[in-house]
Amino acid sequence: MQTSYNGIEVPANGKPIEYKDGVYTVPDHPIIPFIEGDGSGRDIWKNARAVMDAGVELAYYGKRKVEWFEVLAGEKSFRLNGNWLPDDTVKATMDFRVSIKGPLTTPVGGGIRSLNVALRQLMDLYQCVRPVRHYPGVPSPMRKPDEVDIVLFRENTEDIYAGIEFKEGSAEVKKLVDFVNKEMLAGGKKQLRTDAGIGLKPISIHGSKRLVRAAIQFAIDSGRKVMTIVHKGNIQKFTEGAFREWGYEVATQEFRDKIVTERESWILGALDKDPHTPVEKIALAVEPGIDFAPKEFADKIIAEVKGVIASIGQSHGNGKWKNMVLVNDRIADATFQELLLNPSKFSVLATTNLNGDYISDAAAAQVGGLGIAPGSNIGDGYAVFEATHGTAPRLADQDVVNPGSVILSGCMLLDFIGWKEAAKLIESAMEETIKQKFVTIDFQKEMEGATLASTSQFAARIIENMKKSA
Ligand code: NAD
Repeated sequence: MQTSYNGIEVPANGKPIEYKDGVYTVPDHPIIPFIEGDGSGRDIWKNARAVMDAGVELAYYGKRKVEWFEVLAGEKSFRLNGNWLPDDTVKATMDFRVSIKGPLTTPVGGGIRSLNVALRQLMDLYQCVRPVRHYPGVPSPMRKPDEVDIVLFRENTEDIYAGIEFKEGSAEVKKLVDFVNKEMLAGGKKQLRTDAGIGLKPISIHGSKRLVRAAIQFAIDSGRKVMTIVHKGNIQKFTEGAFREWGYEVATQEFRDKIVTERESWILGALDKDPHTPVEKIALAVEPGIDFAPKEFADKIIAEVKGVIASIGQSHGNGKWKNMVLVNDRIADATFQELLLNPSKFSVLATTNLNGDYISDAAAAQVGGLGIAPGSNIGDGYAVFEATHGTAPRLADQDVVNPGSVILSGCMLLDFIGWKEAAKLIESAMEETIKQKFVTIDFQKEMEGATLASTSQFAARIIENMKKSA
């Protein structure tokens, strides 16, 4: 490990977080790299950091302390050393394993290596994890925003993020269209239009299973009761539908004693009510309409019912399944609708890349929280926490923006390294501050009777509230 990165000395008082065989070892003074962020990131970072430091200090009476280590990226880095993303920054982020970043300017005109993409690919950050919940008082367009409390696990390496596209008119796309039309679709009715651009959508067993595995593990560890696989498998059977199938495989093969699937819960629930219910009747409840279906289909469902009773009747029956994580699945469009109408039906969601992109932003908007929504990108042995909004350049250096997104990302980070008391303390104090209607301009203009706070006043009030409750 280097003693300095980008010419900045590694803090002498800290130790790196280590990772071995799936376990992080976190010293009492971990070195955690941070990227301040451009534009309003400057106002946000110094205040968010003060809040995090105070939370840790209060939670552990000074025994624990984060040794923050600045690494350079974005405008600041470009101004100091002519490089938007120095290799040392990527190296430090990997060497110290857990880091946090503010928003970065994406230079207009392109051609610049994106930090997010670089880190995601180098560290294989396959989970994009975004918690979305409502903080009482935050203005929301919904009637019951307080019912939203979800954690979304979005697959971060496949689907549209695989980034495999061929431009309309290019030699590559001509070759591909020709191959598909003449070889793959020969003789059928379907043909690709010759003036199409084409994007590939790979969804693999490896990619799907590890994402769903992480989501189920999180549900178990955090005591959440439902984990929903979101997909569009009714249309795309071999990608979206396969994501669903592989998700259920992980659930039933790797977490058998901790989970029940929704279909299993119907079967076990029927038996709980009446242990003598005939299997045919249970099959009809699981798959209404099977009495009109071909016999082979009905036989298949009856065999499924019998299989469930034989395999988990003992271990999961008599109501035991009710204490386990329920794994179900929903079509993506129905998920959007249900999240609007009955958000309390969801708790943890596992999604493919594009569905997760839409759903996470829509859910955050539902609770009025786009400005304070935290986020993270997580791999095996690496985690990067980040604000989900941009640099708000017009509000920069005026001490006016909302630091909530980075503060809550910091809470996620502290939670991730096991400093749960500090995370809880900070989050509750921020919740309390919003309840007191002492808020930055973005919230103040929407909240009746609210007092306008600057970025630093908002942070100071959070610290005050922490001191009162610690
Ligand atoms: P933005 O998120 O910066 O701004 C959108 C709107 O939200 C603006 O009205 C802004 O004033 C407001 N806003 C954002 N954060 C706020 C906060 N903390 N408090 C109060 N108001 C806030 O998005 P944009 O304008 O599209 O992008 C600006 C720059 O940020 C661009 O260079 C873009 O590439 C970059 N960006 C970076 C990230 C990232 O690093 N994660 C994400 C998105 C955009």
